[in-house]
Amino acid sequence: MAVPQNKVTPSRRNMRRAHDSLTAGNPGECPNCGELKRPHHVCGACGHYDDREVIAQADEIDLDDDAA
Ligand SMILES: [Zn+2]
Repeated sequence: MAVPQNKVTPSRRNMRRAHDSLTAGNPGECPNCGELKRPHHVCGACGHYDDREVIAQADEIDLDDDAA
């Protein structure tokens, strides 16, 4: 098993971790429903992208359309 040649001091460890922080996303408002959504992604609330519906929502699908 590989063994570290030198002990990493708390100072060096913390300097390495100085760049580990996560950056916040950049959510924008959906132009259709106003919900916050990720840029360049389909809105998770209404399924719209660029002012048109690309994913039909479950409450809008009529399952009894051609039922016997
Ligand atoms: Zn939306």
